[in-house]
Amino acid sequence: MVELFERSAAAKGQAPLLDFMGRHYSYAETLDGANRVACGLAQMGYGPGDRIGLFLPNVPHYVAAYYGILKLGATVVNFSPLYTPAELAHQVEDSGTRLLFTLSARALLPTALKVLEDSALERLVVGSVAGALPATKSILYRLFKRKDEAPRPADPRITAFSQLIANKGACPTPKIDAANDVALIQYTGGTTGTPKGAMLTHQNLAANARQVEGIDPHTEADDRILGVLPFFHVFANTCVLNRTVVNGGTIVMLPRFDAGQALDAITRTRTTSLPGVPTMYQALLDHPKIAKTDFSSLRVCISGGAPLPAELAKRFQSVTGARLIEGYGLSESSGVLTANPYEGENRAGTIGQPIPGTELRLVDKGDPSQPAPAGEPGEIVANGPQIMRGYWRRPDADAEVFVDDAEGRRWLRTGDVGTIDADGYVRIVDRLKDMITVSGFKVFPSQLEALLYKHPAVKECLVIGMPDPYRGEQPRAFVTLNDSELADGATLREWLNPQLGRHERVDQVVIRDSLPKTMIGKLSRKDLVTEVMAEG
Ligand code: AMP
Repeated sequence: MVELFERSAAAKGQAPLLDFMGRHYSYAETLDGANRVACGLAQMGYGPGDRIGLFLPNVPHYVAAYYGILKLGATVVNFSPLYTPAELAHQVEDSGTRLLFTLSARALLPTALKVLEDSALERLVVGSVAGALPATKSILYRLFKRKDEAPRPADPRITAFSQLIANKGACPTPKIDAANDVALIQYTGGTTGTPKGAMLTHQNLAANARQVEGIDPHTEADDRILGVLPFFHVFANTCVLNRTVVNGGTIVMLPRFDAGQALDAITRTRTTSLPGVPTMYQALLDHPKIAKTDFSSLRVCISGGAPLPAELAKRFQSVTGARLIEGYGLSESSGVLTANPYEGENRAGTIGQPIPGTELRLVDKGDPSQPAPAGEPGEIVANGPQIMRGYWRRPDADAEVFVDDAEGRRWLRTGDVGTIDADGYVRIVDRLKDMITVSGFKVFPSQLEALLYKHPAVKECLVIGMPDPYRGEQPRAFVTLNDSELADGATLREWLNPQLGRHERVDQVVIRDSLPKTMIGKLSRKDLVTEVMAEG
């Protein structure tokens, strides 16, 4: 990935890589920033193989830090900026993250400071973006005793981003083994719902960026891609960041998705493409500014992360005149496995065809070593250069997620059930894995259930995804009680939700006399879904 970035920077020089709220950061400037980050980290004693975390929204620091870490031969670990302290600490510990980049924003710094105290994390690097996000002024003052341009932190474990990059960016950096060195650890639930880190090599990421570029016959070096998908997610990593860096375009970056700001940015920058999740397109359509937005530059938008309702696609296309196509992929596949064609037939309700270099097959839902019975849906398995090396320190999970075929080729099990038609268009019809998709964010029922069991009133519980017209799905908890005097649904919800990230919160805790069980007495989420759907 680093080589591709350097190649683009040599060709594009002063052309803008980032447009952040109107301020341009050129290719040359961003590469210089990345070199300085690599140097600053090396001077602190970090190097190849170290895990360095990014707990950041979409800000220019993210891009400089990301490529700086890669240049150092170290591994980026992506953290959702919506994480609670407990979630952040868990992922820091699991990945062995030694240093975390964050921002002096109100929603981030207090969480990062707590984790610095409570975990094995060694250091924080804290950036600031004046005006873009509500800042933590008083905390910053305490940390840095801000008086001059080069703040001196009171705590030696905390470094200002400006201080980290106060070097010439000319340190020796190691040779990268692109096929084997892990560039990125991307946390995901996989098929079992327990978060684990998908190890993506430099080659995986470079391959997926090129594969995505390969499906767009009109890729032009002056493309302006609206970067509103969160950069910590693999979809943005491939379809916004790495892909743009490879083709030499500009990322119009917003710190987070805001429909009004996104519409303003489309008109202001003459955006050509907008990768997003379905709820983003819906929010744009619902915003009053839609009527005043100039969409004449918008060419194609790629939707992923959750099913794209056909009606929504139709409306978005008729209002904007741009094409809205659906793609699909996973963290374990560096982002993208399939997409509908940028030109040619777009089959609504399908996730399109495998992108170049990717093969998909259907295997038996009960026995992945066997092909799916002819004409029946099966679990989608995938093979291609974008498939992860494996899970971070989880050989047990690797054994479950990979299947070998008779020729010894390794296939990734997706946990998604689908059909493939004669022209190779894939349709997802079911999901084997325990996962709820809320506005494209993944929520794992087992984690919410584990929290609920900590409440003394809870005897048994199950969390399922309820259909939601706006967010796709919405988590809801079903509980049986030890003692109905101790709690009711409302008090349990008030107790649970503050412990959860924004997308994980349940709309209701429903109290039941009993919950469905399997033949051997295990609670059955599947049967509960069937029951609840039948109740309407
Ligand atoms: P993640 O690893 O967080 O990217 O989640 C990957 C999962 O998101 C896939 O295995 C699917 O279950 C789901 N997903 C991604 N894209 C789509 C799509 N276009 N339609 C339906 N589900 C999708």
